[in-house]
Amino acid sequence: MDMKYHIWTEGCQMNVADSQRLASALEQIGYQPARQAEEADVIVLNTCVVRQSAEDKAYGRLHSLRPLKDKNPRLVINLMGCLVGVRSYERLQQRFPFVDVFSPPSDPGPLVAFLSQGESQALEQAETAHRFALMDEEAAAPLLLPVEERGRLISAHVPVVLGCSHACTYCIIPYRRGIERSRPAETILSEVRSLVAQGVKEVTFLGQIVDRYGKDIPGGPDLATLLRKAHEIEGLERIRFLTSHPNWMNAALLEAVAELPKVMPHIEVPIQAGDDTVLENMKRGYTAEQYRRLVESIRARLNGGFPGVSIATDIIVGFPGETEAQFQRTYDLLAELRMDVAHLARYSPRPDTVAHRRLPDDVPAEVKMERFRRLEALQEQIAAEISARYLGETVPVLFEEKVKARWKGRTPTNKLVFVESADDLRGRLLPVRITWAGPWSMLGML
Ligand code: SAM
Repeated sequence: MDMKYHIWTEGCQMNVADSQRLASALEQIGYQPARQAEEADVIVLNTCVVRQSAEDKAYGRLHSLRPLKDKNPRLVINLMGCLVGVRSYERLQQRFPFVDVFSPPSDPGPLVAFLSQGESQALEQAETAHRFALMDEEAAAPLLLPVEERGRLISAHVPVVLGCSHACTYCIIPYRRGIERSRPAETILSEVRSLVAQGVKEVTFLGQIVDRYGKDIPGGPDLATLLRKAHEIEGLERIRFLTSHPNWMNAALLEAVAELPKVMPHIEVPIQAGDDTVLENMKRGYTAEQYRRLVESIRARLNGGFPGVSIATDIIVGFPGETEAQFQRTYDLLAELRMDVAHLARYSPRPDTVAHRRLPDDVPAEVKMERFRRLEALQEQIAAEISARYLGETVPVLFEEKVKARWKGRTPTNKLVFVESADDLRGRLLPVRITWAGPWSMLGML
């Protein structure tokens, strides 16, 4: 029948993984990938709404599909992800009547049902659909990668915890991705085995609070145990996990990272703010001092030898009520802790969230921008200094793909390294001597 699909993915790694699983499901019912949306019979928009800017992008993209649908009424448009969420999508349906299928995050089910059963049955099914998108565990393991990635993808994302139940006051994710659900360890492990059989060398376990893995399964394994089990998989060379919440990082997890050579020394653990009142208003559940001690304990346990452990954090500037003095505490803490990476965001009020309902968005846009820029400049300087330590050193790099003339890979600490080589380096783990180091990437020689 030669039917084609095109997926547009926005947002986090979880969405990347969700799109990959959807592509796999579509190929199993006979669809093939189309490079351009214009060539496709089915177009999927996998959306993000973590900030207003992401949501606006999704609407823009959605509007741009209207003329395609007008030209070809047989075109199937699927709106997926956090714009749809796990609750009712009636308002979206009214606003975008040209969308054929609405799917919650992590759920290929509604589109596959629509395409394989015909519209009427699928709509009926959609009424009772898994609004909490538990993923079809039978279908999820083993996972057959989409044809364009099979034998080519080196580093794969594997969701291990879906949803989130923490409810930080600024965050829309729990409302859109539903309650926290850990996937069974056996499902995850068999998925990893199948990925390795298709050429994958590195997996990154994903969860909004990945270090809570297993807490919702009575007697379930924890993340440390899952890492130990995954470590035994032959052919798998590297394991990573993100994002951790400071309150759930524990000694057993750090022990597993320290002991298991395949588990990379890279921890993503957001602080969000360095001031205790702001942290309290965000309902993060820790103080700046507790975070400082956590960073110390991560470094104490994992910093043996060069280059040691790398730590990434997330920071939101301009949270409601954030004063200059409170922002300065965040700045000072970042300067003191010297993280490898800081993902920075300007606070964006999100519907349904506690902060949106109770706290006025009172930090002016230009002040948010100015604080963002100050942190950005600080982090650039810190990252450059950390990178400079790599100059002249030899580090193991796992190569993923060729980007223009250079091969791109990562160090155990997740630093991006580019190398010129005429050889095919895809999937190879090789020692590289670093010859140039900038804040965001490095160059090296085999
Ligand atoms: N669940 C993780 C955590 O514990 O923070 C991270 C996931 S969240 C999708 C990624 C980042 O987006 C957060 O760490 C936060 O810094 C940022 N973020 C979330 N809500 C935001 C908002 N309303 N405005 C600005 N940034 C936001």
